[in-house]
Amino acid sequence: MTPSILLLPGDGIGPEVMREVRRVLDWFARTRGLEFHVDEDLVGGVAIDTHGVPLTDAALAKAQAADAVLLGAVGGPKWAELPFENQPERGLLRLRKDLGLFANLRPALVFDALVEASSLKPELVRGLDLMIVRELTGGVYFGEPRGITELANGERRGVNTQVYDTHEIVRIGRVAFELARKRHHKLCSVEKANVMESGVLWREEITKLKADYADVELSHMYADNCAMQLVRQPKQFDVVVTDNLFGDLLSDCAAMLTGSLGMLPSASLGDADAEGRRKALYEPVHGSAPDIAGKGLANPLAMILSVAMMLRYSFDEPEEAELLEKAVQRVLATGKRTRDLAGAGTTEVSTAEMGEALIYELSSSQ
Ligand code: NAD
Repeated sequence: MTPSILLLPGDGIGPEVMREVRRVLDWFARTRGLEFHVDEDLVGGVAIDTHGVPLTDAALAKAQAADAVLLGAVGGPKWAELPFENQPERGLLRLRKDLGLFANLRPALVFDALVEASSLKPELVRGLDLMIVRELTGGVYFGEPRGITELANGERRGVNTQVYDTHEIVRIGRVAFELARKRHHKLCSVEKANVMESGVLWREEITKLKADYADVELSHMYADNCAMQLVRQPKQFDVVVTDNLFGDLLSDCAAMLTGSLGMLPSASLGDADAEGRRKALYEPVHGSAPDIAGKGLANPLAMILSVAMMLRYSFDEPEEAELLEKAVQRVLATGKRTRDLAGAGTTEVSTAEMGEALIYELSSSQ
């Protein structure tokens, strides 16, 4: 059966960068015989304007049925004053929740041509390729009890609870071990077992899983040390797996090693079905960039690298994913840049021109 993809371009620069995705998908169908059934729907502000809600039940049903979802970005000043439950971001949160997306994958990949964009010294980041796997639906952001209470002595107390059950640790651990298998066979599990019981449990459960993945080298690190090591010697890492809170911080830290928001893809994965297929949503890390929307200035490469992640992790097409990633490398090596990355010695191009240049590089690799 032809695999299916749902495109949700969303708001701001979302539709502009998604246009380039269409081009890439057409190229793979035409040239590599990689056919997908592609459907499209609304999410975010544009869905509010059209249907009064940030995600309709019909769009959610399409996302549930699709083999993968590609999302642009949601939000913008037009909808900023709406009540919290009607904000464009609720559409994205509903998707994540109803698809059961518990694993967030954030690669930090430094392209040779962009080594200078990093805030670290070139020798520390040249060739960097690491992946942070963050648990997304548990931990201190969701744990009970939570809230702010009045104390008898007149003070107020803020409470949040870090809580993880075995199954939550095991399922994120399996995602991370499987990823390590598709990469360089190294996994570092990160917690604070020295001061937190939830960290002790995390470490014990991840260690037990190792028995099923003899080909993966497992290490453990405290989260504070990991933050330090990410800026000291980031190339020591292959895959890092961690909880929701530490993952939130460490994935942003790792992302900035690459220095460029317009280049960062991400994936969110759910449980595997009987055939091992997971619900999956792929999206760039950046937002809807209302300041540049509609001007042809958006960098489409984060969105396109999200397509490469989809090819690798949802459709098990590592060669096709690599073809796309190498084409991105080559476009950058020609000196073409969208405005966010343009500088001395580079040629500024529009969103569409970047898409065209990418197709040219893909075609010349055949
Ligand atoms: P942003 O990522 O949209 O923009 C931050 C800065 O980076 C802006 O100057 C923007 O022009 C630039 N930028 C971002 N992506 C770019 C790209 N592909 N090419 C070139 N430049 C790029 O973050 P923000 O300004 O904080 O948020 C704007 C809106 O996006 C808000 O409504 C926010 O809620 C929403 N947002 C959505 C998501 C999402 O959909 N996942 C994520 C973050 C923010």
